[in-house]
Amino acid sequence: MNKSDSERIAGHLEKRGYKKSAEREKAGLVILVTCGVRQSAEDRIYGLVPKIKKENPKVKIILTGCLVNREDVKRRLNGYVDAWMPINKIFNFQFSIFNQFTNFQFSNKKQKDKISCDKDDYLSIKPKYSSKFSAFVPIGNGCNNFCSYCVVPRARGREVYRPAEDILKEIKCLVKKDYKEIILIAQNVNSYKSEITNYPLRQSDSEASKLQITNKSNPPAGGQNSKLKFINFSGLLKLINDIPGDFWIRFFTSHPKDMSDELIKAIAASDKACRHIHLPVQAGDDEVLKKMNRNYTVSHYKSLIKKIRRGLPDVSITTDVIVGFPGETKAQFNNTVKLFKEVKFDMAYISRYSPRPGTAAEKLKDNVSKIEKKRREEELMKILRKTALENNKKYIGKIVDVLVEGRNKRGEWYGKTETAKNVKLGIKNPPNSAGKQELGIRTIIGEFVKVKINKVRGFGLEGEIVK
Ligand code: SAM
Ligand code: SF4
Repeated sequence: MNKSDSERIAGHLEKRGYKKSAEREKAGLVILVTCGVRQSAEDRIYGLVPKIKKENPKVKIILTGCLVNREDVKRRLNGYVDAWMPINKIFNFQFSIFNQFTNFQFSNKKQKDKISCDKDDYLSIKPKYSSKFSAFVPIGNGCNNFCSYCVVPRARGREVYRPAEDILKEIKCLVKKDYKEIILIAQNVNSYKSEITNYPLRQSDSEASKLQITNKSNPPAGGQNSKLKFINFSGLLKLINDIPGDFWIRFFTSHPKDMSDELIKAIAASDKACRHIHLPVQAGDDEVLKKMNRNYTVSHYKSLIKKIRRGLPDVSITTDVIVGFPGETKAQFNNTVKLFKEVKFDMAYISRYSPRPGTAAEKLKDNVSKIEKKRREEELMKILRKTALENNKKYIGKIVDVLVEGRNKRGEWYGKTETAKNVKLGIKNPPNSAGKQELGIRTIIGEFVKVKINKVRGFGLEGEIVK
């Protein structure tokens, strides 16, 4: 999300004539998109901001992102930061800050008026994508769930979803430019809802038809004959899938409480949606889940995994988990161990609990020691390494599609499968159609290739390009 926000800030500035500085030391303005999800991310800012000012005393620093509303952070960085900018206010920020800092002049009044409009939908800003083949497309921002440990609803505000028409427009443009991977992002993609005019409802869109409304007080933009309807995430996925082209659709993150049968069916029916579901479990114990305010039980989570695996054969499943939540006993942690052994995740992002200011859990005693949190993390890692390797063994001898992402220092190509497995492509210069070793010159970055897998590791595959 922060990376995507940075792309939008860069797009916004570049459109107004700013240029990216080759070196940070020579920049006139540095904007930092901060993360406050864990203390470790926050601590990086306390080191980085003074460092930037020291190496370049004339630079103006703007902070945005998760830490922007925190008074204690503001006090701590007082004297270093020149302005604090909520990310969704970047339209309004144009005059007050950017200009004042950089003496930027609008070429004419029309341009000034256009930019100064009181717009709040920063997601509509055209980003400067950092990749030429893979793009983050935010479908929403904020969160309404208030998990007791999490700072996001306070830092990013309540859920706001982007109109489906806007999302489709951005994706169509990307596909035209030959983008191969569209990554839909929001804190909870599967609680997405949007009004849409003239949505071509099909019989299968059962959930969407249930949500269908005709908005009487606010007639749809398409005129009296067009009907305004709501679509949910399954509906959005279908519309994106209908865009002609050869591309993958990924999405992060799905919340277990909102993972519907309809969505699993929509993914199964899609030839573009990747067979990879990231479904954060956070804990494998019902009492801990309750204290976390996650609104599901372990048995619900396990039944979802079953349904996903039944509906999407060969799917890979990854998760997020927190160890050492306040009061988590060894027995409760052992339930998470049990869940890890049972589910056999392909990957897991394991976090040691970190108290966050303003959250409900901050009031609970952070009573699991640092050493014990580390030990719990390592125990889960050990299981993960085993289950991931076990899952990867199923790939041996298979031919899979790989989106080539780059070339490492040793000259080896690498990429990933639709199941989000990293793949090292063993051939340094794969032969072209004439059998010549010319690919060292022609780049295959951003292309799909067929790869025969011949070696697997815990967190990756190796193979040879066969086509
Ligand atoms: N919306 C997603 C969900 O519901 O699972 C997760 C978004 S959150 C920004 C990313 C991950 O950070 C979470 O899944 C959680 O594992 C971790 N996280 C959030 N707050 C944390 C905290 N206080 N301590 C440790 N990890 C935390
Ligand atoms: Fe944070 Fe929970 Fe919202 Fe995810 S669902 S962003 S963990 S509050």
